[in-house]
Amino acid sequence: MATYKQQCIHCGAFIERDSRFCPTCGSRSPFGYTCPTCRSPIQKEHRICSGCGRPLRIPCPHCGGMTFVGARCDHCGNSLLVQCSNPRCGELQFFQNQKCTACGKKIKLQTEGGRR
Ligand SMILES: [Zn+2]
Ligand SMILES: [Zn+2]
Ligand SMILES: [Zn+2]
Ligand SMILES: [Zn+2]
Repeated sequence: MATYKQQCIHCGAFIERDSRFCPTCGSRSPFGYTCPTCRSPIQKEHRICSGCGRPLRIPCPHCGGMTFVGARCDHCGNSLLVQCSNPRCGELQFFQNQKCTACGKKIKLQTEGGRR
C-alpha cells in the first residue's frame, strides 16, 4: 500500500495524510485551519468563525497588518502563538486567547522586553 504524504499548511513538512498532528511543528490541524478560540474548522476566505463568530482577520501585534488567524502573520512571519503558562500543559495558544483551549488555564500575556 502506498502511503500518501501531504504538506503541512503551517510548516510545509510532508507528513502522512492520516496524521492527527504535524510532528514537525506540532500543529493539531496540519491540513486545514481551525479557529484558535473554539477549534471549529475555518477557511481562509471566511471572515468570521462559524463556530464562535470571532473575526478571522486580526491586526498583527508585531507589524500591525491585518492577518489571518493562523500560526504566523501573513506579512511579517512572526508567530501569533504564545505558550500556555501552565508548566504541565505548555500548549501553543493563539495570542488573543484568554484561556488555554487545552487546559482551561487563564493565559497571561508575556510582553517581550518588559518595562521600558
Ligand atoms: Zn507542520
Ligand atoms: Zn471559533
Ligand atoms: Zn506581522
Ligand atoms: Zn494550557
